[in-house]
Amino acid sequence: MNYVRTNNIKIPLSRPDISKADKEAVLSVLNTPHLSLGPKVREFEEKIAHYIGAKYAVAINSATSGLHLIIRALGIQGGDEVITTPFSFISSANCILYERAKPVFVDIDPLTLNIDPYNIEKAITKRTKAILAVDVFSHPAEWDKLQRIARKHKLKLIEDSAEALGSEYNGKKCGNFAEAGVLSFYPNKQITTGEGGVIVTDNKKIAGLCKSMANQGRRIKDSNWLDHARLGYNYRLSDINAALGIAQLSRIKEIIKKRTGVARMYNEKLRKIPGIIVPYVGPKVKISWFVYVIRLSGAYSRKDRDNIIRKMAKKGIQCSNYFRPIHLQPFYKEALGYKRGSFPICEAVSDRTIALPFYNNLKEKEVHYVAYNLREALANVKKAD
Ligand SMILES: *Cc1c(COP(=O)(O)O)cnc(C)c1O
Repeated sequence: MNYVRTNNIKIPLSRPDISKADKEAVLSVLNTPHLSLGPKVREFEEKIAHYIGAKYAVAINSATSGLHLIIRALGIQGGDEVITTPFSFISSANCILYERAKPVFVDIDPLTLNIDPYNIEKAITKRTKAILAVDVFSHPAEWDKLQRIARKHKLKLIEDSAEALGSEYNGKKCGNFAEAGVLSFYPNKQITTGEGGVIVTDNKKIAGLCKSMANQGRRIKDSNWLDHARLGYNYRLSDINAALGIAQLSRIKEIIKKRTGVARMYNEKLRKIPGIIVPYVGPKVKISWFVYVIRLSGAYSRKDRDNIIRKMAKKGIQCSNYFRPIHLQPFYKEALGYKRGSFPICEAVSDRTIALPFYNNLKEKEVHYVAYNLREALANVKKAD
C-alpha cells in the first residue's frame, strides 16, 4: 500500500510553501537569456555551500543524480560492495546498483531508525569500498561512530542527507560528515526547486568530477561545448529552478522554525495516546523535520497499520507508510536474495510507521483533527480484532 488516493483530501501528506517572492524570483530569470548554466546556479551553489559549511556545492537535477555521481567519482564499480541501510527511500541503494556494485544492507537502530554502527563491522569484506549512510527522517546518523569505522577499515563514507537540510549533529550541519553528501529539493522536502538537489563536499577533486559529469563530461574551465573529457550525463539544474532554491533558502530559518512548531504540536497531542510512539530525537542532535513519522506499539500489526491509514484517508487525512524496506522491493529480493526476516528490526519498524500530514503551514486545528481521528482509528482497529 502506498499513498491512499482519495477524492476528498482535506489534509494532504505534504504541501510546498511558495511565497510571492519565490514566484517573482522565478519570473525574473525568465526575463533574462540565462535559463541554464547561468549566474543563478552559481549563486545557489555558493549559498548552499555557505549554509551547510562545505567548501564546494554542485547543483544537480535531483539528489538521486547526485548519489550516482558520487558513486562514480569515488570509483565504485562492478565487484565492489557498499554497506547501507534497508530503511530509506530507494535511491540510496539504487545508486549503488547503477554502477553494478552490490548494496550490502545491515539492520537499523530501533531508536534513530538509521543504520546501526554496531552491525557494520561484521558486514565488511575484502570487497567493501564504502559506507553509504542516510539521515533518515532528518535524524542524523551516528557520524562519529561511522567515521571511526571508515577510518579503521579505509572505507569511503557517503552521506544521503536528502531529508536533512538544516539538521545538526554535534553542532555541525548534515551533509558534512562524509567524503561527499547530497541534499534534495523535491517538493516535499524542507525547501524545493521543483526537482533538484545538490552535492556538498570539501574534496576539490570530487566536486570537479561531479560538476563535469553532471554537464556531459565537459571540462569545468575553458570548455568547448563539443569537447567531452569523460563520460558524462545531463544532470544539470536550470537557473529557473536555482532561482526558486535561492528564494526558498533565504527563508530556511523561518521554515525550520515553523516545522519544529508543528512537530511540537503533534508531540503534545500524541504523546499520551496509548499505542503511539512519537519521533525520537537523540542527544547532540537538531532535527529540521522533513516528515513527522509516528510508530505504533508492538500490539499493532502491519495489517492494523494499513487499516489505520485507510481509516484516516476516509476522513480526508492523507498518511503514508514511510518506508517499505528496500530489501523487500521485488527487484532487490530477486537480484540479491533478500527475504522477509533478513533485517528484523527494519521490518518491525517499517510494519508500524505512519507518516502524518506535515508541512510549514499546518494549523493547530488541523493537527488536532489528525490527532483526534488517529486516536479513534487506533481504538477501532483494536475493537475489530
Ligand atoms: C527524497 C530522497 C531522495 C531522492 O531525492 P530526489 O531529489 O527526489 O532524487 C534520496 N534519498 C532519500 C533518503 C530521500 O528521502
